[in-house]
Amino acid sequence: MFQSLSTLTSLVQEISRAENAIAAMHQIVIKLTEIFEVPVCSLYLKSASQQRLVLAATEGLAPDSVGRVSLALNEGLVGKIGRTLHPLNLADAPTHDKFVYIPETHEAPYHQFMGVPLIHLRELIGVLVIQGTVQEKFSREAEAFMVTIASQLAGTLQSIQRSGDWLPQGPTAFEHNRHAGVRAAPGIACGHLEVLHLNLSLQDITEERSTDAEAELARFDTAVERLEEELTLGASRLGDNLPSDVSNLFAVYLMMLQSPELRDAVVRHIRLGSTAPWALRESSRELAAHFDNAEDPYIRARGEDIRNIGNRLLRHMLSKKPLGNGNERRDLLLAGDLISIADLSVYHPEQIKGIICTGGSALSHTGIVANALGIPAVMGVTGLDLKNHDGQLAIIDGYRGECITTPSDAMINEYRRLQSADEQFIDQLASLRDLPAETLDGVRVQLLTNTGLLADVTPGRKNGAEGVGLYRSEIPFMLHESFPTEDEQYEVYRQVLDAYAPLPVSMRTLDIGGDKQLPYFEIREENPFLGWRGIRFTLDNTSLLVTQLRAMLRANAEIGNLRLLIPMVSRVDELQTFMHIVEDTLEELASEDCPVARPPIGMMVEVPSALLLLPRMLPLVDFVSIGSNDLTQYLLAVDRNNPKVAALFDNLNPAMLVALEQIVSHCEASGTPLSLCGEMAADPAAVLLLVGLGLRTLSLSAHSIPKIKWLIRSIESSSARNLLQRALQFNNEAEIRELLGAELRRLGLKNLTGPEPG
Ligand code: PEP
Ligand code: MG
Repeated sequence: MFQSLSTLTSLVQEISRAENAIAAMHQIVIKLTEIFEVPVCSLYLKSASQQRLVLAATEGLAPDSVGRVSLALNEGLVGKIGRTLHPLNLADAPTHDKFVYIPETHEAPYHQFMGVPLIHLRELIGVLVIQGTVQEKFSREAEAFMVTIASQLAGTLQSIQRSGDWLPQGPTAFEHNRHAGVRAAPGIACGHLEVLHLNLSLQDITEERSTDAEAELARFDTAVERLEEELTLGASRLGDNLPSDVSNLFAVYLMMLQSPELRDAVVRHIRLGSTAPWALRESSRELAAHFDNAEDPYIRARGEDIRNIGNRLLRHMLSKKPLGNGNERRDLLLAGDLISIADLSVYHPEQIKGIICTGGSALSHTGIVANALGIPAVMGVTGLDLKNHDGQLAIIDGYRGECITTPSDAMINEYRRLQSADEQFIDQLASLRDLPAETLDGVRVQLLTNTGLLADVTPGRKNGAEGVGLYRSEIPFMLHESFPTEDEQYEVYRQVLDAYAPLPVSMRTLDIGGDKQLPYFEIREENPFLGWRGIRFTLDNTSLLVTQLRAMLRANAEIGNLRLLIPMVSRVDELQTFMHIVEDTLEELASEDCPVARPPIGMMVEVPSALLLLPRMLPLVDFVSIGSNDLTQYLLAVDRNNPKVAALFDNLNPAMLVALEQIVSHCEASGTPLSLCGEMAADPAAVLLLVGLGLRTLSLSAHSIPKIKWLIRSIESSSARNLLQRALQFNNEAEIRELLGAELRRLGLKNLTGPEPG
């Protein structure tokens, strides 16, 4: 009866092609009546605020009952499924003691009933029901298949459910214009959404006609030119650094792009009245089809290449214009699936008031840069269909990790009030700039800053940073169009060292890989976070490392405040090799009449193996910096960028506290200076424990320094130690956070976690 996999795949595909939420849900119920050969299928979704299961789509019951019929949890059979979270498979539903007849549905006497809960990431989304006239239970096979379908659809349905677009009364009826995400950078902002490259692919394009063939042709030609430029630039500038398979791919893509077949096909469609995107979609489909059925997998792969080229061309065709040609607004909330650092660089920093990503998490590099720039950011936002909101007013609340679309005037006013209260509070903290970060019982904590953009040198100095604890050197690489030369790097490093001199600046060597991709050097890996990252990558690309070291050492020649920091160390021999390379580079520079001193060299502890091997590594380095972002990720096996597991990513997991205790004790035993430079250092609750653990140097984004200084100046280190002892007794981070939240409230430091909406 059920060809499970293929039926399921085609169901999911059809839904993904549906035009909107209502159409998608309609597809689901119709398809399920066909698959199960029943007269009725109904989908109930849980309303966000009222905790009721609302009929969201039906095939077989009265269509006008959609959106009007709802059941409380535990009310009727549907409510019972919602409460117990178990499927119900009944031969004769009306005889069940939970059965309720709802007149609006005009329900005929259906006996056969099966309902299954829709659950996504442990949360009830709704209930899916099928009903038949016969008086017998559905088969086991049918039940198993229904459960499988429900689990497959739950993710998609959660997005619909949260968006509220399915309610006939409109979203405001159920408060679902609030979209939850993950806090990535604190702050509140109201502004207009600027939706960037919606990750459109050719499949998303719908047919459109145009009467201006010449204009459409010009659109296509411009996109080809831009892509040619992108490919040629990428291939030529990378030169010898490019692995041969990648450079071959560049050549193949260029050849395909310039092939007369592609252009001829597109021209033909445009002349027949298509717009350029539709013509491109059709032409790519036709050309790819020639290859798709080939036996030889190599030839088949060419079909994939054509689609790939088509998608890249499409993005050029639809991409937003850079500043000057485009948006001049000063209150933009940039929104997209993932917003790259390069995307941010297109705008003037003054224009960007907030960042909203439907993908990524707090520790995506976009989040880190947003923190550096003091821009509120929320990542991994669910249930937000961005393409419906481009240009609209919205609110972002970086403290609570949510954004609000289509806000009422009253809501905008309320959030503007909160925003100005927050800004006032931050302004008041400016008076602390020249005061030391010292606890009430006299323990001094050094507050350094994390940086990577020249743009945040000023906030760093303005907020009283006592130096740079982490200079992420990959950020300037990410903003470049090709690997920067030694002299280009030298210029940037010199400016940073100079801006902070004589305060120390720890410059980390290139840490790309994972989510930090260079636009001109794509690294494709199944498991990028376990792959070619940080020191592994630079040791394998020695010339890149040497160029960078030369630039840093030369920049430091007359300034003398440089410290080198090695990212992602996981093996002792990586440290040894790195030290040799530094020695060789120093000798080389000396032989060129550029004598430079050996700076202190430190390692990041962010991989569990480094933690376990720390006693063997410490004799090789001058200082240690804890990268709590990656250490949490690797210790807990929780991807720092995956919104699905964002709730599990918490620096205050008990395992992290135990790990931090060990690092502190190894460093104390060997007398090695220790600091912490992950985002944990900007989390007020975490800082209570870091002080208790004995950490005396923290490096954090410039905008967070005043708040953390205020916190440190308000606590006693002895109570922080007591608090740590109590926190170590707990087995989960929620309890630890509760303890620390209560302490912050007790100390009158609640403001640190943002103003509360009324
Ligand atoms: C870290 O992992 O904590 C860290 C500071 O490095 P990054 O976030 O740049 O990976
Ligand atoms: Mg890291």
